[in-house]
Amino acid sequence: LRRFFQGTQTEFDVKRSILLNTKAENIRENSLKYTAEPHLAGTNKELAEWTRDQLQSFGWDAGIEEYEVYLNYPLDHALNLVDDNGKVIYEASLEEDVLKEDPTTGLRDRVPTFHGYSANGNVTAQFVYANYGEKGDYDLILEKTGDPDFFKGKIVITRYGGIFRGLKVKFAQDLGAKGVVIYSDPGDDSGITPENGYKTYPKGPARNPSSVQRGSVQFLSLGPGDPTTPGYPSKGAVERQDPSKYIPSIPSLPVSYRDILPILKELNGRGETFDGFEGGLEGVDYSIGPSKTSLNLYNSQDYKITPIYNVIASLTGSTYQNEAIVVGNHRDAWIAGGAADPNSGSAVLLELARVLGVLSKAGWTPTRTLTLASWDAEEYGLVGSTEWGEDHSKYISDNVLAYVNLDVAVSGSKFHSAGSPVLSALQRAVAKEIPHPSDNNTSLYDVWKKDSRAYIGNLGSGSDYTVFLDHLGVPSIDVGFSGGKGDPVYQYHSNYDSFHWMDNFVENAWEYHAAISKYVTLFAVSLSEREVVAFNVKEYALTLSKFLKAIQRKYVGASGHLSGLETESNEQKVLEKDNSGFDTSTAPWAESFDDVLKTAKEFVETAHKYDEYTSELQKDIIKDWPWYKYYKKLALLARIRVANRKLFHLEKLFLSSNGLQGREWFKHIVYAPGRYTGYAGEVFPGIVEALEDGDYENAIKWLSITKASLKSAKGLLK
Ligand code: GLU
Ligand code: CA
Ligand code: ZN
Ligand code: ZN
Repeated sequence: LRRFFQGTQTEFDVKRSILLNTKAENIRENSLKYTAEPHLAGTNKELAEWTRDQLQSFGWDAGIEEYEVYLNYPLDHALNLVDDNGKVIYEASLEEDVLKEDPTTGLRDRVPTFHGYSANGNVTAQFVYANYGEKGDYDLILEKTGDPDFFKGKIVITRYGGIFRGLKVKFAQDLGAKGVVIYSDPGDDSGITPENGYKTYPKGPARNPSSVQRGSVQFLSLGPGDPTTPGYPSKGAVERQDPSKYIPSIPSLPVSYRDILPILKELNGRGETFDGFEGGLEGVDYSIGPSKTSLNLYNSQDYKITPIYNVIASLTGSTYQNEAIVVGNHRDAWIAGGAADPNSGSAVLLELARVLGVLSKAGWTPTRTLTLASWDAEEYGLVGSTEWGEDHSKYISDNVLAYVNLDVAVSGSKFHSAGSPVLSALQRAVAKEIPHPSDNNTSLYDVWKKDSRAYIGNLGSGSDYTVFLDHLGVPSIDVGFSGGKGDPVYQYHSNYDSFHWMDNFVENAWEYHAAISKYVTLFAVSLSEREVVAFNVKEYALTLSKFLKAIQRKYVGASGHLSGLETESNEQKVLEKDNSGFDTSTAPWAESFDDVLKTAKEFVETAHKYDEYTSELQKDIIKDWPWYKYYKKLALLARIRVANRKLFHLEKLFLSSNGLQGREWFKHIVYAPGRYTGYAGEVFPGIVEALEDGDYENAIKWLSITKASLKSAKGLLK
């Protein structure tokens, strides 16, 4: 009734008010507060309480939800070069320089350099260099040296980059290594280096030679969250499992390039070096070793079960309370500052809350429930969001329409976005409504299109959307501004991701923060206010279809009986045959693949019609209804409710209750982190992994699971 008499003017007014009232200077103030003191996971309950109090003062119904999780805190560490006689010839500092220009780098209680979930240990061994520590790097070294024990008993040095750091440790551990050291190589800083005339931070935009990337070494691609409670919440007297499947058993340390330099020099001329292995350190030839001298790696961590604090706040919707939109961002940081990670997100979340709070106090009620989350312990492995998701899985499955993730909202000037394809059309539409921070006369969309053809990536993992999308099938997005051409080096997870850096090197007017704030607020409100849920299902179907075709092209190749596929050259066919080790053109899954593609095509057609149907519904509802057509409008509203519920459920049809093989926590059959990458996603992981492994039966099994999902999706929308 309310909606009948009120009409739909509100969406326009609300959006205008969001664009006018979002203030860069408020976000800067929020950032100052959040970056002033350490807030490592599970510490600084006061900051959680402060966040809750702020949200309450803005008019949100806010509280703290605690979980008791397994975390480690650093006690002591050492990394020393030792000669043949056991004499220490070099001691790494394992410290970042205190800079007088940058106050938070010198806090007395600043966080030491260490790895989340790293194992305790004190090991001394010869060392080797393994480039980025990717699966391909280890495989190449094993192949070229012909020595299957090359890594056995050694300490492995890898540089940061490419894949998630925990997997670098996992692969080394699987090959029998005793420890891992991961360092930041200036060769990976896009040419913003002293060599090219750039001064180092704080004098300039290049990396400070002492900067260290802290971070978790959990085996993310096997499952996030508290490693002692996989799949269920860490609450009360819960059963705790052995975490060793999910975290390393060998110690590791992160170090700066200044610290690693004398160590890598020890490898010069020792063993081979390969294309792509060389970084940017002067006087280092990046040989793989092994060394003559030894490294002593000592890592002492205090492991405990300790409380963490999620702040959850809501504005209850007037109409569709079972279609809530959750906007989340983590609050914990590896360092005091963390002006980019996560406090650019935290500062934005508070401004979003304030702007919507002002509207709410003026009498506006969102149509759908809006929920905000300030997660704790993301940095150790998405722990706060994952435990919350596991705890409220039933509620989320039945009541959460979409999840919007903020993490590093701003670390540079280039807009990036990833997300579920049902949300892509809305993402682009919203970007057209936001002025670009560099020039108020162009839109965020125009610049995004110019930079990257308005590309929307696939969600892999590495931030808090993971439990929502991969475990529970909630359509999600993740957006922010990150490093583009000419931007300063982002010293990720180091003390130099500070307010001073943000304020002096990234943001002049804090307009990039403001733009993300407007974007996310408008996005959430568009979803909440549009009578017909603003999902585009054709884009979903088309994207899945495209993924499947690409996989087929890669693995099935030129099997003659494939529909809609260009014939490929013989050369390509031979290549594919050689790569996989069997003749793909007659592979037994070729037919199943055709079948899946046929179903995918039918899903696209049905989805296309469904989008036409829902846009008609939306048009009908917003036209001016004379009072005597009251019952007709009620009937239309009833149809809309049904249509919305179908949209709500669509993505969930792509969950498989048994989950992915060997990593059952991941339920989504389309989206998961790559088993060898962690951050980067692998689409249709079940099919791809089976094909990669040459496991026919499994490939057929996953193809049939996929076909069944596509069929139900088509059936749902029919
Ligand atoms: N975002 C954090 C990182 O990249 C945590 C990722 C994770 O452990 O899932 O280090
Ligand atoms: Ca758990
Ligand atoms: Zn983060
Ligand atoms: Zn982080």
